[in-house]
Amino acid sequence: MGAVNPVSFIAEKRAGKEHSAEALEAFFAAYLAGQVADYQVAAWLMAVCFQGLSPQETQKLTEVMASSGKMLDLSAFPHPVDKHSSGGVGDKTSLVLAPLLAAAGCTVAKMSGRGLGHTGGTIDKLESLPGWRGELSEQEFLAQASQVGFVLAAQSAELAPLDGRLYALRDVTATVDSLPLIASSIMSKKLAAGARSIILDVKVGSGAFMRTQEEARQLAMTMVALGQAARRQVRAVLSSMEEPLGRAVGNALEVVEAARTLQGEGPRDLEELVLALAREVLEMEGLEPERAKEALRSGAGLAKLMAMVEAQGGDPALIEHPERIELAPHRLAFSATQAGVLARVDAREVAQAVLALGGGRRIKGEAIDHGVGVELIHKVGDSVKVGEPLAWIYHRGRGVEEAEQALARAFLVAPEAKPAPLILEVIR
Ligand code: URA
Repeated sequence: MGAVNPVSFIAEKRAGKEHSAEALEAFFAAYLAGQVADYQVAAWLMAVCFQGLSPQETQKLTEVMASSGKMLDLSAFPHPVDKHSSGGVGDKTSLVLAPLLAAAGCTVAKMSGRGLGHTGGTIDKLESLPGWRGELSEQEFLAQASQVGFVLAAQSAELAPLDGRLYALRDVTATVDSLPLIASSIMSKKLAAGARSIILDVKVGSGAFMRTQEEARQLAMTMVALGQAARRQVRAVLSSMEEPLGRAVGNALEVVEAARTLQGEGPRDLEELVLALAREVLEMEGLEPERAKEALRSGAGLAKLMAMVEAQGGDPALIEHPERIELAPHRLAFSATQAGVLARVDAREVAQAVLALGGGRRIKGEAIDHGVGVELIHKVGDSVKVGEPLAWIYHRGRGVEEAEQALARAFLVAPEAKPAPLILEVIR
């Protein structure tokens, strides 16, 4: 491998040319060795934002990022599966899907993130449970995968560390927003995490990073191709994120809703999405697709969630009796000022309301209030009367006015409404 010339490498991409696999590999090896500076990688990232990456370049970048750290091998476990969501509002899907898959015979050894921008993260949600711990060593992670069949840990810095470095640069140089960079970033982590079958839940709409179905389809197809090139089974479900998923938005509220869903008392949309995702995963693994529904009906999924919570230091009784999970002490109704049909509940505005209450981060590393949030009483398509509560605001006195303003922008009551389908497309 010859010496890397970072300036000509950057100029090559600026001119819209395609890098060879060797050149890409050498550039990032030199970066990791401290021979290429952050500002040179940042310049290259910006060139990628304008010029894109070919499918071959995207695949090579994914491979280079995935192999920049530890690669977990889960092949000794029965049916090792993983799931990724592109991020949404009220998206507690993992908390329901993962235990159902584990109860259906899969091994779910999953790494999850914290909230990003306006979207929530599974680790933040589970930290609503006192004592629950998401920072696990590799040994603890693998031991629990073997003993419980279900473990949920915070993303390890040892997996795909190059992605971590690139993501930190992208975050501060306006270069997050590039389809090949997003697809390779997500898939590098999934490939390093070692599952055989991966389901991608790609959200579309106001509360998602992808606003249009076409953009989401492109992202999904790119990720599916990257997974297949690495000999994994990958499918993607495109689902609507115009209104929040389910009724609960806010960390503790979402854990309550997930536990209720596993007790058969969840909102219809959440259950529909979870079962659709489960069906795809079970099919990829050659398991009977009805198993997830059975695990829901029998309570086996609930038992798996309780077992995971207990193994990671939380109290499983809180999952069995979710009404005992601590919420913020004050509850305020947000009421309709007009009669008609609920035509819109804008997911991004609801997320802004929860952020204002302290339920998310506006600055990196900020502490969050797990107990605050918004519970939607009505969903799109419901008839509402003047003065009727549309949502409950759970709060501790902080940001209530700002949350009410966001909710006023979120809800639209009209003479009629056309609820949109939840599941838009499946890419196999
Ligand atoms: N999530 C990731 O992990 N990477 C991205 O680039 C965007 C979202």
